[in-house]
Amino acid sequence: MKIGFSQLRLVIAGFSVASMVCPASRAAQTNRDPQNSGPSTTVVIDAGHGGFDRGGIPGQRIPEKEMTLDVAQRLKGVLTAAGYRVVMTRDSDVFVPLATRVAIANSYRNAIFVCIHFNSAKRVGAGGIETYFYSRESLPLASAIHYYVAGGAPSANRGVRRRGFYVLRKTGIPAVLVECGFLTNPTEGAYAESTSYRQKLATEIAAGIRGRFSVTSTSSRTGVATDESIPLQSYIDQTKVSSSERSGSKRSHKRSSRSKSSKKKKSSKTLDSEASATARKQEAE
Ligand SMILES: [Zn+2]
Repeated sequence: MKIGFSQLRLVIAGFSVASMVCPASRAAQTNRDPQNSGPSTTVVIDAGHGGFDRGGIPGQRIPEKEMTLDVAQRLKGVLTAAGYRVVMTRDSDVFVPLATRVAIANSYRNAIFVCIHFNSAKRVGAGGIETYFYSRESLPLASAIHYYVAGGAPSANRGVRRRGFYVLRKTGIPAVLVECGFLTNPTEGAYAESTSYRQKLATEIAAGIRGRFSVTSTSSRTGVATDESIPLQSYIDQTKVSSSERSGSKRSHKRSSRSKSSKKKKSSKTLDSEASATARKQEAE
C-alpha cells in the first residue's frame, strides 16, 4: 500500500502526470479554454453501467447500476440547485456505450466529467473510497472530490489513484471516476442502500466540484482544511510504472494503461487487486 507520499512527492507526482499525458489528450488540451478562465459551469455526470450491464461482480446482491444512477440523479439535483448546468450521460436504466459517454463529455467546452461507480470484490472485507483520474488537469478535481467523499464517509480512504480507464483517458476535459464504496462489503453495502447516505455522497461530490479550484499542496497534513484550502490528497500511481518508465516515453505508459488486469495483478498489492472487476474491464476497452 503506497498511501503516504510526502506533499512534495505529491506535487512531483502531479507534474509527472503531465509528462505522461497521451498525444491525443494533449492535442485536445490545446483546443480548450485554459483552466484559469473561470469556473466550469457544465458538469457532465456519468452514472456507471446501466441496462444489461449491471456492474459489479457475478452474483453480487446489490446492483451497482441502480446505486450509481441514484447518486448521479441526486448529484444532479444538488448541482442544479447550486446553479450548475448538468448533463447526464444516462438518466434511466439504459446501456450507454463508453464511447458515447466520452463523446457526450467531449461535446461540452469548459465542462467537467464526473463518473459515479461503486466497487466490488470477492473478498467481502474489502472496502473503502477511492477516486481515479488520468490527466494532470484532472488531479485537482479528483483531489477535491476525494477529500469530501472520503472525509464524509465512514469507510476507509483508499486514496486518489491515477489509472487509464477508458472514460478518463479519452475525455479532453477534467475527468474523475469516484468509487463510492464496496457493494460487496456488508457494511458499505448497507450504507449504499440507505437513501440518506446516497444523498450525502451526492452532497460531498458536489462540495468537491465546488472546491476544485481550492486544492493546494502547501496546506498542513493535519487533515484540517477550509473551503479555501483543500489539501492535495494522498496519491497512488496504480499504473505501476517503474521509475525508468516514468521518465520514459508516453507510448510505453499508454500500453501499460491498456494492459490486461491479469498482468497488472501480478505486480499489485492486495488492495490494488481488489479494484472493481468492471472498472478493469472499462480500462481494457
Ligand atoms: Zn462500476
